Amino acid sequence: MSKRIGVFPGSFDPITKGHVAILEKAYGLFDEIVVAIGINSSKQSYFSIEERTAQLKKVFEGRNKIKIDSYQGLTVDYCSNIGAHYLIRGLRDGKDFEYEKSIAIMNTQLEGAIETVFFMTAAEYSAINAHIVRDVLKNNGKVDAFVPAAILPLLK
Ligand code: ADP
Repeated sequence: MSKRIGVFPGSFDPITKGHVAILEKAYGLFDEIVVAIGINSSKQSYFSIEERTAQLKKVFEGRNKIKIDSYQGLTVDYCSNIGAHYLIRGLRDGKDFEYEKSIAIMNTQLEGAIETVFFMTAAEYSAINAHIVRDVLKNNGKVDAFVPAAILPLLK
């Protein structure tokens, strides 16, 4: 049987406790999970690809089933290239659902062999948003409650 590979795509700018909780839920269902940073050259990121890769590696150190990668172009093309048939996404609320629903349907229309699997966020992380974490960081605020402890030393 072929390996069941799931791709968790996102900006992870930076990774939050919400992202980690989604991965914990998905962990047992896949043989391999690739946390893939989507490179969007038209979007200015807060942390560079190298910084985000280092943060993700630190958080998932020792978790053999989790690989860290980055990609450019269509997410479905990236999945096909690495032999992944599942996309992993997290849902916080109805707004996430409406947005994710369109992307999931379009992705399946682009590449029928890829299915999106959704996991509900844990209630305690439902308000965590990487955009707000960046605002707190820019204003020298404390982000301990929002990001995994392992990356705190890597944040500027
Ligand atoms: P994007 O730039 O596509 O929003 P993110 O890196 O912010 O990418 O998020 C990647 C995935 O993680 C998305 O499916 C998003 O819904 C999910 N996610 C983000 N924050 C949380 C959270 N606090 N709880 C659960 N899922 C989350």
